[in-house]
Amino acid sequence: MNLIQTAVQTVLPPKHKSTPSGWISFNAPCCVHNGESADTKSRAGVIFKEDGFTYHCFNCNFKAGWTPGKLLSKNTKNLFTWLGIPDSELQKLSLYTLQIKENQPVAKVEINLTLKEIELPEMTMSIEEWAREDLPDDVSQQLIKIYQYLLDRGMEINWYNWSWSYTPGYRDRLLIPFYHNGKIVGFTGRKITDGKPKYLTHSQPGYVFNIDRQTPDRQCVIVVEGQFDAIAIDGCAIMHNEPNEAQIMRLRSLGREVIVVPDRDKPGAKMIETAVEQGWTVSMPDWGDGVKDVADAVKKFGRVYTLFTILHYKETNEIKKQLLKKKLEHVEL
Ligand SMILES: [Zn+2]
Repeated sequence: MNLIQTAVQTVLPPKHKSTPSGWISFNAPCCVHNGESADTKSRAGVIFKEDGFTYHCFNCNFKAGWTPGKLLSKNTKNLFTWLGIPDSELQKLSLYTLQIKENQPVAKVEINLTLKEIELPEMTMSIEEWAREDLPDDVSQQLIKIYQYLLDRGMEINWYNWSWSYTPGYRDRLLIPFYHNGKIVGFTGRKITDGKPKYLTHSQPGYVFNIDRQTPDRQCVIVVEGQFDAIAIDGCAIMHNEPNEAQIMRLRSLGREVIVVPDRDKPGAKMIETAVEQGWTVSMPDWGDGVKDVADAVKKFGRVYTLFTILHYKETNEIKKQLLKKKLEHVEL
């Protein structure tokens, strides 16, 4: 993925679908600008290929795209604007295409795309707001279960803006809104009972969870895999075990030490691999048996001690990082 592809990926509307042939379809942003009515049938498609991308709208027949060595066409610039890329970023992307065209180094180009807002399910409030309401019995019973789930995970009520929705399909889920510049840009709903899907997530692929809390006064950012891990220590989560390029750029743009704390399983080795590639710090304190991630450690030892051990056992030495990676590759599941 290069900058242009990452930019496209980052601004895709939250509601999009991938087809087996590689097309990603979503509601076309172009039609209303071309004298057609707004698309509601996901008639726009994007496909990534050979370091570039192609966009085609099957509603108004608008076409755009880019391949390395070319500059951004008028159509492609328009498309980027309609997808919500601000002018300042568009200029950087144009510069990037020019640098590729002239075969110059591109290392200095930074990017900070604006993520789109998203709507939470109807009838969603923070758990604290719900607690102040006069509630029918069945609603308070369900809220007590949600609260109990939070406690069971070792979380505290004031650690995050935990939410809950009375909307059918969400009632047995703890909702965790995702913020960017103070606005909600996604959420996940964690099922509190058995059953699938465990997480119901609406998010853009380049989003880094809890990045809003990484204020300039902080000296480092701790990066973990899951949302509960991140909330437990007020770090960031990449929400899978291999950060994508947009996430890497967002973390780098914080301009501070990045400390990766992988889960204690084989996929955790991928996190260390990225850390090695990016020159990031790795920390893997020995928290004993039964502790497989940061949330477990916080539940067992508390937040302060867990943070202390993460900072105490951080590792910047390349060879030692490789050894930690090997250790995870040989974890028995
Ligand atoms: Zn269109």
